[in-house]
Amino acid sequence: LKAECVANEPILTYRKDSKERKDLLQALKTTAAKCEEVPIVIGGKEYKTDKVVHQVMPHDHQHKLAQFYYADKKLLELAIKTAVETQPKWDRVPLEERLKIWERAAELMAGKYRQELNAATMLGQAKTIIQAEIDSAAELIDFIRMHANFLKECVKYEPISEDPKVTKNSLRYRGIDGFIAAVSPFNFTAIGGNLAYTPAMMGNAVLWKPSDTALLSNWRIFNIMREAGVPDGVVNFVPADGPVFGDTITASPHLAAINFTGSVPTFSRLWKQVGNNIDKYNNFPRLIGECGGKNYHFVHASADVQSVVTSTIRSAFEYSGQKCSACSRMYVPESLWPQIKSGLVEEACKLKIGDVQDTCSFTSAVIDDKAFKRITGYIEHAKKSSNLEIIAGGTYSDSKGYFINPTIVETKDPKDRIMTEEIFGPVLTVYVYKEKDLLETMKLVHTSTQFALTGAVFGKDEDFIKCALEEFKTSAGNFYINDKSTGSVVGQQPFGGGRKSGTNDKAGGPHYILRWTSPQSIKETF
Ligand code: GLU
Repeated sequence: LKAECVANEPILTYRKDSKERKDLLQALKTTAAKCEEVPIVIGGKEYKTDKVVHQVMPHDHQHKLAQFYYADKKLLELAIKTAVETQPKWDRVPLEERLKIWERAAELMAGKYRQELNAATMLGQAKTIIQAEIDSAAELIDFIRMHANFLKECVKYEPISEDPKVTKNSLRYRGIDGFIAAVSPFNFTAIGGNLAYTPAMMGNAVLWKPSDTALLSNWRIFNIMREAGVPDGVVNFVPADGPVFGDTITASPHLAAINFTGSVPTFSRLWKQVGNNIDKYNNFPRLIGECGGKNYHFVHASADVQSVVTSTIRSAFEYSGQKCSACSRMYVPESLWPQIKSGLVEEACKLKIGDVQDTCSFTSAVIDDKAFKRITGYIEHAKKSSNLEIIAGGTYSDSKGYFINPTIVETKDPKDRIMTEEIFGPVLTVYVYKEKDLLETMKLVHTSTQFALTGAVFGKDEDFIKCALEEFKTSAGNFYINDKSTGSVVGQQPFGGGRKSGTNDKAGGPHYILRWTSPQSIKETF
């Protein structure tokens, strides 16, 4: 498969007086000025229920950004019926026609709606301009273009027909009959769009449950896709209470697949429910999930100190550590620790944490009250434990927004829960190892957690790099040598992890689209 015929969407710079900056400021103003009403949409019809929910700004939690409604069991069943009826009709639409809709959508996102999408992401999910720019429109455009391109390459494959005068063999890529449930997270607007719309591109019909805390940006995507020409019923927009949604979709015989990004307990719960209902289904439902990580930076004594410091600060603290790929544990050799420690502490203390609209802010608030309590719980644990010492940050306040200062902890115990559990916030823990224990410490990286999403090693010593490639083979789905563990680019580093980090189906890679098709082999005899 050739990827090089599609380029990544260029990232805009938002320089002073640039058009994109003016447009963005206008979009921020309009978005913040009202609390937008967002309905449930099933088969093109809008619904409201009496379960009213609000999306607030994480950095100013008294400010309501959107009002929306949870679909109840009855509406979810209606959405399933609608999707199941729509799927065969949609699957009959020729592929070229479907792809044209997606091309149009990418154009709308790149131009007309880019700043609306960025503004909704900034205000609703507390992203700074640069994080919104790389994580919302641009990444979703990449998902659309790359996946469409891979699909076009795939369909070129012609099976062997030994004697074309007698038989002709072909393969056609059908959608999966039934419906697909897309359950998306708050942390990347683009992931929501990808989870719902890549299966749809392949001829499937979808129930999309967006995250409550990414509601507005996800609603923007839904509308752009409608304007581009996605027919009613192909994707149904159904915000819902998590367990109600899970119970309803897994109880339906028509469940074809779940496309999930979120926590391990939620994905495991869905998996168990599918297992319990397995005899009811028309298909064996496909379960595709990305479930977080406990990502590491492992430093060798031959590493470049400045590059370690810069990479680690960016990986651990950009978007307040709320990327699934964020570095949250670090292993440093004794010989380099004094320099790395002073570099990390100095840099962390300089970071400005503030309003998303302030271009000097490095990052802003964490997403909500639940996250604030979970993350500060780990900080309090560090304050109480004799094995742990806070060397930077450790302070927080939720009076206006959910602000937590970038926190660095040094641990004497590499198995403390702060080193093994996913925190999903701006807390980095460092274990300083003795050089003579290098191999043993490398093994610990793998054995001390069940996650295997991203990891990075730093060092110039070639033998170390060779050894790391072996030792860390199964400890990360995305592995970096002398670079930070975050920032995978669609089409460049297909993303996903193994073990408890997920099913590693690599969004943004050439094989992802194959999860969303049930191909048919046809032999025609003349
Ligand atoms: N692809 C993103 C990165 O490499 C992370 C995606 C996620 O948080 O799920 O930083």
